[in-house]
Amino acid sequence: MTDSSISTGEISQLLQTGREVPPPAPLASAARLQDYDTEYRRSIEDPEGFWAKVAKELEWFRPWDRVFEWTYPTFRWFIGGQCNITYNCLDRNVQRGRKNKVAYTWLGEDGTERQVTYGQLLDMVARTANALRALGVERGDRVVVYMPLTLEGVVTMLACARIGAVHSVVYAGFSVQALRSRIVDAQARVIVTADIGFRRGKTVELKAIVDEAIDGLDFVAHVVVHRRAHPQTELVAPREEDFEELVRRQPAHCPAAVMEAEDPLYVLYTSGTTGKPKGVVHVHGGYMVGTYYHMTRFWDIKDDDVFFCTSDIGWVVGHSYIVYAPLLAGATTVFREGAIDYPHPAVAWEVVERYRISVIFTAPTAVRMFMRHGDELPERHDLRSIRLFTCAGEPLNPEAWEWAYRVLCGSGEWGYVADNWWQTETGGPCLGTLPVQAARPAKVGKPLPGVVADVVDRQGRPLPPDKGGLLVLRKPFPHLFRTVFGDPERYARDWGQVPNAYTTGDVGVRDADGYFTVVGRADDVLNVAGHRIGTADVESALVSHPAVAEAAAIGRPDPLKGENIKAFVILRVGHTGSPELEQVLKDHVRHTLGPIAIPDEIAFADKLPKTRSGKIMRRLLKAIELGIDTGDTSTLEE
Ligand code: AMP
Repeated sequence: MTDSSISTGEISQLLQTGREVPPPAPLASAARLQDYDTEYRRSIEDPEGFWAKVAKELEWFRPWDRVFEWTYPTFRWFIGGQCNITYNCLDRNVQRGRKNKVAYTWLGEDGTERQVTYGQLLDMVARTANALRALGVERGDRVVVYMPLTLEGVVTMLACARIGAVHSVVYAGFSVQALRSRIVDAQARVIVTADIGFRRGKTVELKAIVDEAIDGLDFVAHVVVHRRAHPQTELVAPREEDFEELVRRQPAHCPAAVMEAEDPLYVLYTSGTTGKPKGVVHVHGGYMVGTYYHMTRFWDIKDDDVFFCTSDIGWVVGHSYIVYAPLLAGATTVFREGAIDYPHPAVAWEVVERYRISVIFTAPTAVRMFMRHGDELPERHDLRSIRLFTCAGEPLNPEAWEWAYRVLCGSGEWGYVADNWWQTETGGPCLGTLPVQAARPAKVGKPLPGVVADVVDRQGRPLPPDKGGLLVLRKPFPHLFRTVFGDPERYARDWGQVPNAYTTGDVGVRDADGYFTVVGRADDVLNVAGHRIGTADVESALVSHPAVAEAAAIGRPDPLKGENIKAFVILRVGHTGSPELEQVLKDHVRHTLGPIAIPDEIAFADKLPKTRSGKIMRRLLKAIELGIDTGDTSTLEE
């Protein structure tokens, strides 16, 4: 964290909507979690009893001796317990009558569809697990998965977990250097990839990237390639193996390895707050219990739901809510390779209509993109199957909330919008709006059961309601990360910046009723004439103007004010940038937030630099604006 971030605490919260929207009555009355207050109180007063009860909904090879142990800053859950997350994802469902239920519907950008049942998935995972074993992969070995969003990608992750290997998925869009550094950091002997991926109608040459990334890395013994191209991509023996051939030879039976609850399940690299990728480690037991809990309580998944998650296996949302939790809950999940607006911006609505999607998990960046194209496209489709439209990844601007509620959810006639806040480190949501809770657009919601969230100054002193500061978490829950791979000091720093708390790196505000707002990253806080303002306030004010679809705000040094604000905006379809519109938008910000937040300059842009996961890269925008040599931006891009 830089010094320009929180020095004394207190961020002004300028954006106030004051609006509260109750959940649709049928959604609330059918929700599995009915009484938030009681559930939350129980989870805090007796966390061990609370999580043990949830854990008992799943199967364990051996029960735990102790539920929780905390030696600050490290902690353990379900000590002595033995399990395997894939046993609960697959075998348990097959045994309980879901053998022929569709586990996944996979869609290609070109409209190709593949469906697999729980029974078929178990076979595929068992064969793939045996194939990995045949290559010498053992318990605890790291396997780098550099695969597009395919069934084979999902199956490979599950196959690693099946035999106790640790997968490290690298988003199949990252460059050579990003891939190489992760392979080296994980010391992975085996890499599973595909020859190509598909995005926006083009092929992405993944195998070529792997070839370059492992050049000179002698410890990489095998590269398994899922071949999709025609004519077939040539493979070079003995290091390169064909995925399908290797898997086809294997028996379709592979008992799940008996894992200790605290054994690592995966490493996933995230950019964290400093830009240097951080290998976040999650474990079999606690991660299984926590992600399952939220799938069944927050997303409220029932047996007849069809769940559509627009994330990718390269991100934590894909790990938790494409792969593991939907399977733990026995759900049917739809996922789609490629861009969400390709071949046309209504393709997501076609998917909703065709598969009668009932619960969606997407990101604010997608909502703003949909919004930019107007109401007409979604209105041409029957979206009445949607009952829950959920979002995470960035602040969900109130305007985007309102648009999704009105256009996609029939203003509550059939659906509801639920924001949720979390990070790679937390494995699952920490703050959110449950199906039984009233939503306050601009606010994420309340702490979910098990989560003690606080807003503090740098010394860790809690700030009163409506004062912004560092968002911290005070108590470990089962699905919180255990360490940073190969860097325990970095893990300890996360728990050491603020005394007795895990520092999330975000800034937040809590209102008097306990609803939280996350106003951005601590590194991005704007400091104008002594007023510290979160980027989300200025951006949401701009997005609330009918001409604006998306906005990014950065601070520039200013001799008088400390910093002045520059904003970059993308206009909605049908609007054009002009000096007059710039003035109109400045007036709009003055009216919405007050004079302190008026940008000195507003630039009209066609696009904003984003991470591959769709988050706006304010740091990069700022560096470009200030003429700072960004040098190698590959870490920023991550
Ligand atoms: P990741 O690196 O993908 O784990 O991103 C986590 C970060 O995304 C958080 O620390 C927040 O900065 C941001 N984020 C995630 N969900 C939300 C949300 N609902 N509202 C605001 N910011 C969010």
